[in-house]
Amino acid sequence: AAPVALVAGMSSMSKHHIIVKSGPTLEQLAKAKTFAFDKTGTLTQNQLVIQDVLPENGFDKETIQSYAASLEQQSDHIIAKSLVQGTDKNLIQAVSNLQESTGNGVSGTVDGKYVMVGKLSYVAPDANVNKAKTTAVYVSVDGKYAGCITFKDQLRPETPQTLARLRKQGAKHIMMLTGDNKDVAQAIADAAGVDDVRASLLPAQKIEAIKNVAPENRPVVMTGDGINDAPSLTAADVGIAMGAKGASAASESADAVIMVNDLSKINDAVAIAKHTMKVAE
Ligand code: ADP
Ligand code: MG
Repeated sequence: AAPVALVAGMSSMSKHHIIVKSGPTLEQLAKAKTFAFDKTGTLTQNQLVIQDVLPENGFDKETIQSYAASLEQQSDHIIAKSLVQGTDKNLIQAVSNLQESTGNGVSGTVDGKYVMVGKLSYVAPDANVNKAKTTAVYVSVDGKYAGCITFKDQLRPETPQTLARLRKQGAKHIMMLTGDNKDVAQAIADAAGVDDVRASLLPAQKIEAIKNVAPENRPVVMTGDGINDAPSLTAADVGIAMGAKGASAASESADAVIMVNDLSKINDAVAIAKHTMKVAE
């Protein structure tokens, strides 16, 4: 398309709070056939609510919440932020030797103990524990399983309509790529109107899922919000970062950034891209 038309399209996008970094992104977006989404914070609300703190093996609620929230202070993950938000500030303790394993969780020393928080397979792979059916983080203390904290992960109110409208706009295939468990993922997918659900994925497996989209189902657009999503945004034909501040890892890896906390901006982006390409013909 003519460069001047693409510049006009990009300008129109920015009026709708969508930053598009280059003209070719508009061409890809206009003919996109597959839309892939991260779940947590993208199809669902960008704040989770703590539901239950469930200690085990002699630990108490306050201790595991204090240890977990203290470790999560430094993490950008939406679960981490929601846990810190929902925890009394007096329970937050100093942490040393902090390490984050992307897509798994965080570990470090709190109160003289080695604490891990995140996926069960990461914090206590050998523990004989029933996995929560809801979104949850698990906690271990000095290698001993100490319990879990569950969250309510609620669909964004605009999600079902946004996905329905995407189909009207020509989407053939709508995927969810999530690191969360299968039960949570399927429930959210059903409520959202996603036809292809991939759960329990590590960041590398999200990239594989994007790369494996068949040529006849391309271009593929991936939308995500978190640091875990940065690699899959890069792997997609169009990567869109959601509700992000300019400096986050996701927005640096993205071809476009939605600057407001509203998933339906995807529909505006596709509509503007299609209009731009029509005018440019
Ligand atoms: P999604 O793809 O749905 O956004 P992620 O892949 O980002 O999910 O995370 C998947 C799971 O990994 C979370 O549900 C959580 O159990 C765990 N996890 C990842 N990072 C963290 C962290 N910083 N703190 C706690 N848990 C984490
Ligand atoms: Mg996420």
